[in-house]
Amino acid sequence: MTAPDAPRAASWSRRRVLSTLTPASLLAVSGCGSSGHAASAVAPAAPAPHASKPAAPASPRPAASLSPSRARPSSISARALAMATPEVSHAPGVTNAVALTFHGDGPPALANALLSEAEQAGVRLTVLAVGQWLARYPQMAERVLKGGHELGNHTEHHLAIDRMGETLAFSEIDRCAQRLEELTGSRGRWFRQSQGQHATAEVRAAATRAGYGTLLSYDLDPLDYRDPGATAIVRNVLTKIRAGDVVSMHLGHPETVVALPDILEGLHKRGLRPVTASELFPLSGGAPAPSADPSLSTSQPSQNR
Ligand SMILES: [Zn+2]
Repeated sequence: MTAPDAPRAASWSRRRVLSTLTPASLLAVSGCGSSGHAASAVAPAAPAPHASKPAAPASPRPAASLSPSRARPSSISARALAMATPEVSHAPGVTNAVALTFHGDGPPALANALLSEAEQAGVRLTVLAVGQWLARYPQMAERVLKGGHELGNHTEHHLAIDRMGETLAFSEIDRCAQRLEELTGSRGRWFRQSQGQHATAEVRAAATRAGYGTLLSYDLDPLDYRDPGATAIVRNVLTKIRAGDVVSMHLGHPETVVALPDILEGLHKRGLRPVTASELFPLSGGAPAPSADPSLSTSQPSQNR
């Protein structure tokens, strides 16, 4: 087991990562929402000042307000709800793989640093991009895909989408999807809702309308967006990770960049291989595909619509 209290000297040291940032740039990112099963591993910490919605306190389940069963009355039809996009957060039956997924926002230098760390280790990640991030840094779409990583939709503005009506929720999803399509030729296979671990029925119905067949949730949240320090991030992942997990982390946070090499080493020691979301949840329903040429995982219109 990797000692979580002494991260190895990464090629991106903490000092070097921090030197790329200004306080203003840190204010541009926020956490994804309520916590998965790793939340209890995190010491209480003040939420990031830029987080528009603090993460829920340590709890194995999301806040009740986020549960589909507690959704507000909706005007959408029962048929639409029945056909709404299903949600996945764990791959049952998988014995040797996990998916590291990232909220796509923040300074490009930090995103590049994290992606490069993964690439040096031969690991491919899944980035759920906020539409406004791509509007500001359109080059990041190509950067993600060229590294062999997977790119998906994380709404246009990262607002509390579960509190919107279905029409506004659809707009948040579709605007980001259009941006992805313009930049890459594909909307991507995956949509993840903003500010919440699980989607309401209205959000899932909106995702269906926007063309997404599956909503990608997560079941392990190391709360890295609270910037608890690289040591805590490593510990929060490695003490809770199980085969088949989807881990939610964040681009744009320097401690996450510093933590990644130790996380990858710890996963390797546990016999857990980081794969993309599409590899963890293959369309065929089989086991995750073995590691292959990174170019094979690049989102293509015909594969990811
Ligand atoms: Zn997010």
